Amino acid sequence: MSEFVMSIGGDPVGPESTFGVINPSTGEVFAQAPECSKDQLDAAFTSAQSAFSSWRSDEDQRRKTLLAMADVLLASIDTLAPLLTTEQGKPLNDAGVEVFAAAIWCQYFANLETPPQVIQDDADALVHVVRRPLGVVAAITPWNFPLTLAFWKIAPALLAGNTVVIKPSPFTPLSTLKAVELLQEVLPAGVLNAVSGGDQLGAWMTNHPVPRKVSFTGSVETGKKVAQSAAPDLKRVTLELGGNDAAIILDDADPQWVAKGIFAGAFNNNGQVCSAIKRVYVPDEIYGEVVDALADFASSVKVGDGLDPTSKLGPINNAPQYERVKMLVADALSSGATAVTGGHAMDRPGYFFEPTILTGIAEGTRIVDEEQFGPALPVMSYSSVDDALERANATTFGLSGSVWSADPDRAAVVANQLECGTVWINTHLALAPNQPFGGCKWSGIGVENGPWGLSEFTEVQAVYRSRTDDGLNISTAGLVS
Ligand code: NAD
Repeated sequence: MSEFVMSIGGDPVGPESTFGVINPSTGEVFAQAPECSKDQLDAAFTSAQSAFSSWRSDEDQRRKTLLAMADVLLASIDTLAPLLTTEQGKPLNDAGVEVFAAAIWCQYFANLETPPQVIQDDADALVHVVRRPLGVVAAITPWNFPLTLAFWKIAPALLAGNTVVIKPSPFTPLSTLKAVELLQEVLPAGVLNAVSGGDQLGAWMTNHPVPRKVSFTGSVETGKKVAQSAAPDLKRVTLELGGNDAAIILDDADPQWVAKGIFAGAFNNNGQVCSAIKRVYVPDEIYGEVVDALADFASSVKVGDGLDPTSKLGPINNAPQYERVKMLVADALSSGATAVTGGHAMDRPGYFFEPTILTGIAEGTRIVDEEQFGPALPVMSYSSVDDALERANATTFGLSGSVWSADPDRAAVVANQLECGTVWINTHLALAPNQPFGGCKWSGIGVENGPWGLSEFTEVQAVYRSRTDDGLNISTAGLVS
C-alpha cells in the first residue's frame, strides 16, 4: 500500500490500487502512488463543484488563504524538496527553489489586484466589466517542474474563485500529492483536490462533464488531444506545450561570457525545461571559440544523484525520455555530427547521460528539428543574421528564444523578429510571476502568470446600469422611436 494519499473533499483518500514511482538516480521503484479510480475522480470533481459557490463568494478569504498556503509551503521545504529530488532527479537545492517558487506564486496572486473596469459613466449609463470565475478547473502537469508548474495553475485559479482538481505526471506524483495534503489544513474542504494516475486519468479529466476549464502543461502531442477532448462541451483550455528555443549569438559577443549564459540556459534541469535553449546559432567568426567554451562547461559540470550536495545536474527523469535522448544523440552522430564532449549514457545505474555538445550538425537532423528535452545541445554556425533568423523561425514551435550581444539595442532589433512567446536579450529562462508566459504556433494557446494568466481562469461579464428615466438606451431606443 501507499504512504501517499490523494486529497478529495478535504480528506486523505487512500488507493484502491497503486503504481510504482521510480527514483531516476537508481532506476528503482522507491514508493507507491495511488491509482485514482473513475469513482474517485468523480468524487474529486463533485467535491470541487460543491465547494465552488462558497469559495467564489469571499475574495478576502481567498487572498488570506493563498498567503496561508505560501506559509505552509515555505514551512514544508524540508519535506517536499527531498521528495521532489527523489522522484524527479534534480539537485536538492533546485528542488528547494521549486518549492520556494510555488510559495512565491501563491503570495504574488494573493496580492494581485484586478479592479473592475468602468467603460462608461455618464447620464445614460454606468457600465463596468467584471471577471467571474469559470467553475471547476482540471489542472494537468508534466514531470520536469512538478511543483512550480502546479502552482502556476493553482494560485491564479483559486484567486479567481475557481476550485481545482490537479493531476501530476505519473513519473512525479508524490511531491504534488504531499503538498496538496499539507495544504488542506488551511483550505476549505473541496477547494483543492489532488488525484494521481496514468495518462488515462488525464483523458478522463478532460472528458469529464464537471470541469469548465482545462489548464494543461505538457507535450504538443498530448496538448492536441486535450484540445480535442475539451471541445465537445466547449471547456476553456490553456495549453502550455513544448518548445525548440533558438539562441542567436551576434558577432560582437564575448565567447567566454556568452558560453556561460548559453550553458546555463540549455542545461538547467538537465535540459528538461520547456523553454530551455535547444539550438544555438553562432556566427562563423567566433564559432570555434564558443564551441570550446561550451565544451569546457559541459565536461566540467558535476553530474550525480540529486541528493549529493556536490551534484549540479541530476539524471534524466524517466526511462522513455532517457531512451529518447540516447536515440536522438545516436541519430545525430550517425548522420555525421561530432560530440565535442559527451555523447553517451553514463556507465552507472539510473538514467544518467553525459552533458553533450554537438557540432557538424544542421536542420534536417532530428535533434535540431525536434524537442530533445535533455542534456544534449546542437551548436550551428551562420554567416548572416538574416539566415540565422530564418532558421530559428523555421519551426512549428514558438515558445521562447534569445539573442546575445555586447550591444543590447542591436540584439533587440534581432529579438523583435523571433516568432515566439518570450524573447530574452543576454539571458534565457528569466521567468517571474508577473510576466506572461506562453507559446506561439504549436507551443501553446493562452498564457500563464501575471494579470494575463489570471484572466484565463475567468470569463468577462459586462454590467450595464441604465440611468435614463425610461430605461431606453442607445440600441433599445431606436427600436421604439
Ligand atoms: P506529456 O504531454 O506526456 O504529459 C503531461 C501530462 O499530461 C501528464 O500528467 C500526463 O499524464 C498527462 N496526459 C497524458 N496523456 C493525456 C491525455 N490524453 N489527456 C490528458 N492528459 C494526458 O508531457 P511530459 O512528457 O510529462 O512533459 C514534457 C513536455 O512538457 C515537453 O514537451 C515540455 O516542453 C512540455 N512542457 C511545457 C511547459 C510550458 O509551460 N510550455 C512547461 C513544462 C513542460
